[in-house]
Amino acid sequence: MVVDNLVYGHRGAVAPSVPFHEISLGDEAAVRSVLEKERIELVMHFAAFCYVGESVTDPLKYYLNNVSATLQLLKAMLAVDVKQFVFSSTCATFGVPDRLPMTEDLPQAPINPYGQTKLDVENVLKALARAYGLSFAAFRYFNAAGAAEDGSIGEDHDPETHLIPLAIDAALGRRPPLRLFGTDYPTPDGTCLRDYVHVDDLSRAHIAVFDRLTKPGTGLFYNLGTGTPNSNREVIRAVERISGRKVPLAEAPRRAGDAPALYADSTLARRELGWKVKFGDIESIVDTAWKWHSTHPKGFGDRNR
Ligand code: UDP
Repeated sequence: MVVDNLVYGHRGAVAPSVPFHEISLGDEAAVRSVLEKERIELVMHFAAFCYVGESVTDPLKYYLNNVSATLQLLKAMLAVDVKQFVFSSTCATFGVPDRLPMTEDLPQAPINPYGQTKLDVENVLKALARAYGLSFAAFRYFNAAGAAEDGSIGEDHDPETHLIPLAIDAALGRRPPLRLFGTDYPTPDGTCLRDYVHVDDLSRAHIAVFDRLTKPGTGLFYNLGTGTPNSNREVIRAVERISGRKVPLAEAPRRAGDAPALYADSTLARRELGWKVKFGDIESIVDTAWKWHSTHPKGFGDRNR
């Protein structure tokens, strides 16, 4: 079953057959009552604000939602003895890595409040595991991307800030030319390198970890990416190949807070969870995103709810 306050989420992204509760995670009493009513044993916590730039200009908004509301959720869970938790963390907890590809044991030094809020929750989880026997897995996603293979569910953000949706919309003429942030990075073509990982591959890791959370006090951390870096220009070329259209471009200065290169070493997830990436190349990921965006010009169509 799904809980969402629909501040950024979409009712249409949840199948009608799935029980749905429109409540805020900060409403501890309401969450507790849903956990009891639905007899929940395990919670997967995806909800958060995730705009890096906004987290710099309005950090309080991020700490209140990403940290405080998560604490309320955890308090509600512990009150009714729900002690298995899967948490959406991020490669942004590492900041600018001193080694690539990035393994789980790298030092974590976030360079923006968004990454810091996720790291704060990781640390809270460690303490709760020790003190109360909470079992948790924290997945550090790299660049979550792509859409359902049949094009029925995909990204719908307002504002949209991510490279693949913006490049697709620019190709379709729905948005102004794509601004390419930074062409002077110390990378082969001067643009940033990122590790795009398909949302279905991410989901599979969540399901694979269930069996490992049965022992009280377990704390697991996994970096989830394909391990293949793609530059911004490579992503744009992939959009052009898949769409058969040009992506109109405007070269722009670097965006504040962007690390030059971020890509994962997911050996641990492969070894311990048997995690296998199905969408291993950028074209297969862009292909699913193209199917969604080209057929859903208004996303889920509920923007002004
Ligand atoms: N990017 C860009 N133009 C845009 C949006 C993103 O050049 O309009 C670049 C961004 O600077 C970064 C990469 O694309 O190097 C991926 O950015 P995105 O926001 O998709 O994900 P992030 O890596 O910030 O999580």
